Amino acid sequence: MKRKIQLLPDNIINKIAAGEVVERPSSVVKELVENSIDAKSTKIEIFIRNGGKSEITVADNGEGISNMELGLSVRRHATSKLKDNNLTNINTLGFRGEALSSISSVSDFFLSSKNNTSSTGYIINIYGGECKYKKPYNQNKGTTVKVKNLFFNIPARLKFLKSENYEALLIKRLIQKLSLSFVDIEFNLSIDDKKIFFSPITYQLEWFDKLKLRTIPVLGEDFIKNSLKIHKTGEKFSFKGLLGIPTFNFSNSNNIFFYVNNRIIFDKSITTIFKVAYRDFISHDRFPQLILFLDCKESEVDINVHPMKYEVRFKDINYLKSSIIKIFKDELANIGHKASSFNSQKAIENFITEDNKQVAIELKEKGSEDESNCIDFDSVDEVSYRKENNDYPLGYAKTQLHETYIVSENKKGIFLIDQHAAHERLVYEKLKYEFYNKKIKTQILLIPAVIDFDNLLVKNVEECLKNAENYGVKLEVFGKKSLIVREVPIILANCNIKQLVLDLMDELIYNTNTDTVEEKINKICSSMACHGSIRSGRSMEVDEMNDLLRRMEETSFSGQCNHGRPTYVELRLEDIEKLFGRK
Ligand code: ADP
Ligand code: MG
Repeated sequence: MKRKIQLLPDNIINKIAAGEVVERPSSVVKELVENSIDAKSTKIEIFIRNGGKSEITVADNGEGISNMELGLSVRRHATSKLKDNNLTNINTLGFRGEALSSISSVSDFFLSSKNNTSSTGYIINIYGGECKYKKPYNQNKGTTVKVKNLFFNIPARLKFLKSENYEALLIKRLIQKLSLSFVDIEFNLSIDDKKIFFSPITYQLEWFDKLKLRTIPVLGEDFIKNSLKIHKTGEKFSFKGLLGIPTFNFSNSNNIFFYVNNRIIFDKSITTIFKVAYRDFISHDRFPQLILFLDCKESEVDINVHPMKYEVRFKDINYLKSSIIKIFKDELANIGHKASSFNSQKAIENFITEDNKQVAIELKEKGSEDESNCIDFDSVDEVSYRKENNDYPLGYAKTQLHETYIVSENKKGIFLIDQHAAHERLVYEKLKYEFYNKKIKTQILLIPAVIDFDNLLVKNVEECLKNAENYGVKLEVFGKKSLIVREVPIILANCNIKQLVLDLMDELIYNTNTDTVEEKINKICSSMACHGSIRSGRSMEVDEMNDLLRRMEETSFSGQCNHGRPTYVELRLEDIEKLFGRK
């Protein structure tokens, strides 16, 4: 009788495995470049044609493969990287021995290599998993892999690929990411014979400076200006990289670059941790921009979770989560109110239209003769008054515009402050501080407010009232359909109490979703702060404005409101001078 169950032949096994390891041209590039990195190359060149569909070539100057092992390297599960068959102690990017066998089973594949000890190189050609030839080949020390007509024998996979441009873009992004984590390797990417990306080696620089130089062509100079260095070593993890300031946020997570032991990781759950760490400063639909390298012992993390190794599993994810949140918050607190430089710059750019740029250039060319006609402000009497107050970081408030913006000055420039956004941040931080220290200062209402409230039937109303009290709002049930408000936090005493209480009760009754306790507290404080803040459209006295600015200077995170918008913009004198063509 014919057997029903049979073992699959190797070429079928490889084709199946290829489906997991090589999803698209960029995954081929990833595997090949990682092999070059593992082979200790210092220069890696990547050539792509038609988005990688017709050709991908990766050439390196690494250790090379000996003539004897060339054939073995393309066999399934053949690797030189697992020491003592130990999966918990991996310090190379590869270890599964699957890439070359998979790629060569779904393409027309050429591998040529020469190592230090041999006098000639060799080349091997594998066509759809079948070895066509192996012969001597003129090759410098190192390895070159050429992959032609990827997926020619899996039409379904070929159909699933996107446009050539899109596939090329994925490859470019990948090389950019690798260039940040391997700052001592030169990368060269050419697409359809055009040099698209080049990252030279920079010698004798500190690691951070190397990283910055490599970041500029990837995330731009603006990112460097609007980010802070982070370098923290903890018990289990060490973190280093660049954290974008909250106001420099982005509409998607593309600009979050995360590496574990120098391995590129795409992991939604980690992105969520980053979002939580930035939560207080960025609106929920925006993403921070950051480059973070996490280093840890290989035993803290399992990298053998995903065939393409884009995901990892941490032994202690909760510890990691709390470490990231704590470190980010501490770092972001340090920037205090310097958060808005980017927005100021944008404002200036908007002021300078093409027309007045031209005027500025012409004026500059006319030179200093006009300067002599300028009034010498130093001789004006008001100066003495200005001097006392010109040192405040956020300036001395002078006036209010449109009953919405405060204008202040210090010796370096002028500030425009959004009074509502700024005050809301202060109230929020204060409420949170008082809440956590269990001392929300309350005020008894002389005439208690009575509020109609239809939801008293819900079963946990008693608990909600108790909870509300923790936030400084003391309530009692009155009849079947009303609440009496007895006390509210002092800081909110002037707000619309009815709206405050209705929103707070809604938050307490209905917000039973998956928010953590901390998230709930933040949301409640944020919604209360919004009620208690100085509205736009209210006129303010100079003293009151100055009081607000001084409190902003003392409050962490006051550079942005709770939704990630800036609370103020700064125009430095030198920029104002540029606007008027004085510089
Ligand atoms: P893995 O990287 O998981 O070991 P691969 O299939 O990618 O598996 O590669 C198989 C083996 O071929 C590697 O272990 C390595 O010894 C050798 N190899 C592949 N590419 C290169 C390269 N560019 N330079 C030197 N050796 C290489
Ligand atoms: Mg490999």
